[in-house]
Amino acid sequence: MPRLYRDVLVWDASRTRAERSDVLVARGKIASVCPSGSRSGYDCCVYEGRGNTAMLPGFVNAHGHAAMTLLRGLGEDLPLMDWLEKRIWPVENKLDADLVYTGSRLAIMEMLSTGTTCFADMYFFMDRVADAALEAGIRCGLSRGIVNDNDGAKLEENLKLARDYNGAGGLVKVQLGPHAPYTVSMDRMTAIADAALENDLGVQLHWLETSSEWGTSGFEGKMSPEEYLVKTGLIDVKSLALGHGVWIDKKYAPFYARQNVAIVHNPKSNLKLGSGVAPVAHMISSGVSVALGTDGAASNNRLDMWDEMRFAVLLQKGVNCDPTLLSPQEALRMSTVAGARALGFTQTGLIKEEYDADFILVDLDRPHYAGLNEENLPGYIVYAGSSCDIRATAVAGEILYENGGFTAIDRDGVMAAALLARKKLIS
Ligand SMILES: [Zn+2]
Repeated sequence: MPRLYRDVLVWDASRTRAERSDVLVARGKIASVCPSGSRSGYDCCVYEGRGNTAMLPGFVNAHGHAAMTLLRGLGEDLPLMDWLEKRIWPVENKLDADLVYTGSRLAIMEMLSTGTTCFADMYFFMDRVADAALEAGIRCGLSRGIVNDNDGAKLEENLKLARDYNGAGGLVKVQLGPHAPYTVSMDRMTAIADAALENDLGVQLHWLETSSEWGTSGFEGKMSPEEYLVKTGLIDVKSLALGHGVWIDKKYAPFYARQNVAIVHNPKSNLKLGSGVAPVAHMISSGVSVALGTDGAASNNRLDMWDEMRFAVLLQKGVNCDPTLLSPQEALRMSTVAGARALGFTQTGLIKEEYDADFILVDLDRPHYAGLNEENLPGYIVYAGSSCDIRATAVAGEILYENGGFTAIDRDGVMAAALLARKKLIS
């Protein structure tokens, strides 16, 4: 049955101001957005927003490793390579399909409860991640994390994932997931880009996360990172989501201003691992599409996109000593529609007719929202709000999280399984 969200304050990145609206949702899509009071609810269920509920597009977490929820807290306060080699990779070697499934379910609960309606994931046993996402009803862009892969077996596994799950439930898009230039040879990277073009798939890739990355990749002095993207063919794939981009040279920013390319900024993970601060404001002013991600829960340690938005704007103002940089409107665009586009979802991320009905309802009847109006909503949301204000999270029109509870997930069952999995992994 269609559902009418009556008298909600709607904002998305296509608007200059919020508007009190009646929003009709049917068959998983936004069916209409009309001025508040203009739509009767006689033929549908009605949700009363009473003018003190905001409806925003759900967040798109455009870079992460969901099952790392099981590794949260491991190797705190180490540099990236020490952290990976000494603490993370040895434990990841013990992961099996069931553990990844359990860790992903735990991540999905955390993400839904903090307003994420679509997540990117680059990891292993990705068929089980797809199962977890489909069972929960959340949208996702999935790739098999490819490291080394001299025999091409991991690429083949990623292609099989695409054959089996691309388009599943109207929720899943599959990308190819070469981990990074320092873990995949240039020949293999070229083969992966060729396969992406041949199969019409996007690519997720870690990109210039730390200052030493280009040196350890072996390409330093031989070619620039941008030449590498051209020579491997990565720059031409359908959608290229470059995770991090901390060490992109500002003078090359215009190179990344292409419709099929997005930089996925992970401010908290970059700060925690001491990787640096990406030149996000500069990239945006150069026309680059920048999305936001949390990265894995072992380097963040929250999967909360609201946090990322606030860190993203405050960081750019602070490190550049310029409070005019990166508006809250831009942060909301990064965390919603820009992320959806980065993962190849072209009808997701706006509250607009024919778009996927992926949204959050935010309770504005809280002390820190006193004074919020149609003009200043983005600033109130980004600077004063938090994910604790989320009343409901919906994907494809289905409410999956409401008033602190999950409608399609056995919360206690997932929690118990996660604790057991963690014990098995870390004992
Ligand atoms: Zn990552």
